[in-house]
Amino acid sequence: LQTRLKDPSLLRTQAFVGGEWVDAGGTIEVVDPATGAVIATVPDCGAAETRAAIEAADKAFPAWRRTAPAERAAILERWNDLILENADDLAAIMTAEQGKPLAEARGEVAYGASFAKWFAEEARRIYGDAFTGPTGDRRILVLREPVGVCVAITPWNFPIAMITRKAAPAFAAGCPIVLKPADLTPFCALALAALAERAGIPKGVFSVVTGKAAPIGGEMTGNETVRKLSFTGSTPVGRLLMEQSARTLKRLSLELGGNAPFIVFDDADLDQAVAGAMASKFRNAGQTCVCANRILVQDGIYERFAERLAAEAARLKLGNGFDEGVTVGPLINDAAAEKVVRHMEDALAKGAKLVQGGAEAGRGRLVAPTVLTGADTSMLLANEETFGPLAPLIRFGAEEEAIAIANDTPFGLASYFYTRDIGRAWRVGEALEFGMVGLNTGSVSMESAPFGGVKQSGLGREGSAYGIDEYLEIKALHMGGL
Ligand code: ADP
Repeated sequence: LQTRLKDPSLLRTQAFVGGEWVDAGGTIEVVDPATGAVIATVPDCGAAETRAAIEAADKAFPAWRRTAPAERAAILERWNDLILENADDLAAIMTAEQGKPLAEARGEVAYGASFAKWFAEEARRIYGDAFTGPTGDRRILVLREPVGVCVAITPWNFPIAMITRKAAPAFAAGCPIVLKPADLTPFCALALAALAERAGIPKGVFSVVTGKAAPIGGEMTGNETVRKLSFTGSTPVGRLLMEQSARTLKRLSLELGGNAPFIVFDDADLDQAVAGAMASKFRNAGQTCVCANRILVQDGIYERFAERLAAEAARLKLGNGFDEGVTVGPLINDAAAEKVVRHMEDALAKGAKLVQGGAEAGRGRLVAPTVLTGADTSMLLANEETFGPLAPLIRFGAEEEAIAIANDTPFGLASYFYTRDIGRAWRVGEALEFGMVGLNTGSVSMESAPFGGVKQSGLGREGSAYGIDEYLEIKALHMGGL
């Protein structure tokens, strides 16, 4: 990997604690999912390093919160610029540790930078309010202040964007943040820290603690100094972190699992629906929490849609993300590949039909983009997030039936539907119990739109003009004796 980088110093093998690059007692190996080869090691930090990072953040907070908004904005602008200037190196690091094709990794770098840019702008727009109290003898000022020391735990599927989406609003609000990146993808996080340091982020305002999840998470959730936890990952881990945070009543932002329905009505524009399903299903080899998990297709368009989707899926190229023309990389690890195979075999045993692709157990992490027809809601794939390149097509008749199936899940993150009928657009858009709805589009992730879920998909919203609220408290200042 080092030889692919223009600036090899971006590949950091030390943790970043309180503005210093440090080692810990042991190390953990990070592997390339495409080859299984070890890329390098990172420090195996534990509770002690996490505590040190939190203490450094606490020490940095008073000065950081008083920094002029324009100064915080300038640091975020420089971070954005540095991320974009180093996009090729960051993309190479990402492809090496995460597996997504290089072109897609470049796309994520730009998406990740967009949060730094967006919140640089938002840093100047932290407004309050002022009004006269009910008896007329006082003024009430509503101030929005930084919550204090924040911690973040992020997943491996978007190793840059899930970090900037949390760190940038924290910085803009005047909060320091201690990050635990996924142990599978720490190098993107460390490169971001190196660039933040170059951008002028003060010591202690940003720390990155690499290592095993449980001891770091335990300290983060147990430590009284920490006022807020932002987590993106699975629902079981989110639930555990919420329980662990209960004793100190931390504020929480939780972006958890989904089970996205993708509904194609008879009156859909077929080309658009197929393109949307391809993007939503096969991006990052199906490893995103907003990937279409259940594709519901109405009777009248079912055969045509299935045929077109299978033909498009057949054009995807599976392989190592560094190889020319590859559009679908390896899954993150063997367990991820086994889950896709398990879902597929369960569906085939219950009567689904394989029309494209197919996967076998023990064939490694390269899983072919697969399309199944005749899927139904009794199958595992309709009830769990597959998190892989498996597209099951479920047939439905009436609009109400599609809505009932779509909402029949404890999750409520993303949903999609395709129709050209304006009445149906409103009806279905309002009926879907999800935090995000894509109407005639397969993408809902961008810095300017609120991202988040309802039900067991989590709490809070990230990105957009609303995202900074997660890092701000409201204070009421009553001015009497006028
Ligand atoms: P995924 O299915 O995406 O791997 P996880 O929820 O397991 O989802 O992982 C998301 C993040 O949560 C990762 O950074 C992982 O290391 C972290 N994590 C997993 N278990 C714990 C835990 N017990 N405490 C704190 N963090 C955890």
